[in-house]
Amino acid sequence: MSGDNPPKVEGTASLDHESSVSDSKPVYKGKPMNFFRHMSAITGYGMTPDSIEEYRRDFDDYYADTMCKRCEENRDWLIQYSPIVRFMMDQVREVNGNLSSENIKCLPCSKDQAGGFHPKYGILLCQNKLRDRSHTEDTMAHEMVHAYDHMRFKVDWADFKHLACSEIRASTLSGECRPYQEWMVRGQWKFLRHMESCVRRRATLSVSGHPALKGDLEAAGKIVDQVFESCYKDTRPFREVYK
Ligand SMILES: [Zn+2]
Repeated sequence: MSGDNPPKVEGTASLDHESSVSDSKPVYKGKPMNFFRHMSAITGYGMTPDSIEEYRRDFDDYYADTMCKRCEENRDWLIQYSPIVRFMMDQVREVNGNLSSENIKCLPCSKDQAGGFHPKYGILLCQNKLRDRSHTEDTMAHEMVHAYDHMRFKVDWADFKHLACSEIRASTLSGECRPYQEWMVRGQWKFLRHMESCVRRRATLSVSGHPALKGDLEAAGKIVDQVFESCYKDTRPFREVYK
């Protein structure tokens, strides 16, 4: 990585705001969070797309402390007990990187993403987007593959092919494409070449999130196709794909 301002990967902009994270409790400025508002949001009755969006923002603000605490508890538990997280932390250490609760941060995210990696700041966990501990585990493993690639292969994050390759590896190795996950959470059950199509789709989505591609799925898909064969087969530091 050259220069002082590496490109941001997967909307990790939130990590830049670290300095603004203070210990004092932020004041909630949204509309009152009461039973009726929750019910309207659940039933959709009397809600417009804008008011649903506003409700979601207020919800994330109102429950920020609880979400942060839950995210940090899951993170710390996984650092201690998750085999894949511990393995990846060791592997990153082997290539002279250092991951710990100090540089794996729980913060609220506005974009639809679960986490992010920034070469300078570390790993971001989106406290308001992570469903549970196993989602947090997959996300940590995914971002740790990026951290590993960054240290081991000197990735140029501004190069779309490098980015696509790391996204393919992160989706393959993190466990987020294991059949159960896909079937239960996303309802996309395909017997044939399930894993491959899942990895292709998720890598394309991530690459399209690069600011220069502005969500262009077709352009992102072409970049992913160009490097897919070689990067999908590259399972380092794993000996084989963990499912
Ligand atoms: Zn990624």
